[in-house]
Amino acid sequence: MTTTVFLSRPQSDVWQRIGDWLAQHQRQIRWIQWSVVAVYAVLLVVPVFLPMPGNAAHIWDDLTRFAQFAFWGIWWPMVLFATVLVGRVWCGLLCPEGAISEFSSRHGRGGGIPRWVKWNGWPTLAFASTTLYGQMVSVYQYPKPALLVLGGSTLAAAAVGYLYGKEKRVWCRYLCPVGGVFGLFAKLAPLHFRVDPEVWRETQRAGLKPGPVNCAPLVPLKTMRGASDCHMCGRCSGFRGAIRLARRSPLNEIVHVAGEHPNPWETVLIVFGLMGVALGAFHWSVSPWFNAAKQRVAEWLVERGVLWPLEISPPWWVLTNYPERNDVLSLLDGTILILYVLTTALAVGLAITLLLALATLCLGRWNPARFHHLAQTLIPLAAAGVFLGLSALSVTQLRMDGIDLPWVAEARAAMLFLASGWSGVLCWHVTGLYCKPCGRRVLALASVGLAVAITNTGWFLFFWGW
Ligand code: SF4
Repeated sequence: MTTTVFLSRPQSDVWQRIGDWLAQHQRQIRWIQWSVVAVYAVLLVVPVFLPMPGNAAHIWDDLTRFAQFAFWGIWWPMVLFATVLVGRVWCGLLCPEGAISEFSSRHGRGGGIPRWVKWNGWPTLAFASTTLYGQMVSVYQYPKPALLVLGGSTLAAAAVGYLYGKEKRVWCRYLCPVGGVFGLFAKLAPLHFRVDPEVWRETQRAGLKPGPVNCAPLVPLKTMRGASDCHMCGRCSGFRGAIRLARRSPLNEIVHVAGEHPNPWETVLIVFGLMGVALGAFHWSVSPWFNAAKQRVAEWLVERGVLWPLEISPPWWVLTNYPERNDVLSLLDGTILILYVLTTALAVGLAITLLLALATLCLGRWNPARFHHLAQTLIPLAAAGVFLGLSALSVTQLRMDGIDLPWVAEARAAMLFLASGWSGVLCWHVTGLYCKPCGRRVLALASVGLAVAITNTGWFLFFWGW
């Protein structure tokens, strides 16, 4: 039987030791994962069987309110924030779906992965559709839709794990609705598992035949250059003496790696998904344009005696329907909601696409790879926007319990400012790879700067304008 070869290395820093510690404590990590699974199951399932919380309920004395805050007020925004800080640690060490999918795969059928599963568009499509569906059923507000959306995703993860791969995370790699988003945000992380190709070759020349490392998300270890697909589980730390956890510049992956394998679906996810669908999904509930559009259409329908779109309220799993809370969406509300989110996504996405295309042309003849590379420079701003939008839920939930955060407006402005600057610096470095004359680079930067301004305007309206 072959054994995995982990070489000891003479000089190790704290990050390397952390990586090695992870590799040596996989059993304990599995315990932590199953503890998270247990907490996740309780918070997801139990509130469905409890009465709806009254107005006097608080996060600290009502399980439904606590679960709501834990899922959408802490977990979701913090996981995104952590991914930017330390890579996909959530995926590799804590995610219940990942643990369940891998467990199911260990005991499953072990089938080959079909081509349709590997289609690059799934993460983008899954993110956009779950975001939109989540708004239609008010997933952040009620336990039943939370169980449907999160529980449905967990069941799918288990089923895919059972069907495909052996002890792998096929679901996480190809199909998870937030996998694409995590993959983008991890590119910004100042930590990654670094592969030293020279040391790898040396061990090959020396005839070393190490046993395999089970990289559950199927990252090709030898050629791994970024943190996008890596779940930071640590299993490969020390492998062949060539892989270690290491620091890097938060500019490194986007400037030097992201341009090598342009993925148009990542551009769609950044431009139309994170900067479009997500913005529309946060906007609609406070937007005067949404209300005006609804009013106009309702009047138009009433004038023609067509009342059924205003009267029909589909069940809670199609559109929000909680009459006891005075929270019911009619067919008309739902239709305008969907159109509003899609129109926002299209308008913002197309404007940003045009500006990126202009920036691409500022640097020389049309080049799709350069266009996709420039789109990657917007990831910091996209990440900040989604984080701030989600953390707005946390702020609202805390306010409902009398906890005010007086500095929140300044913190939001500072985050958008810093993220815009981060995107600008990335853009400047990326333009330098394609073109030397400073004037052309400044023009390209100005064009991307306009895209940044459009996004910031959207968030300004959400937080301060309306
Ligand atoms: S490359 Fe694979 S095995 Fe290594 S840390 Fe990342 S997910 Fe784990």
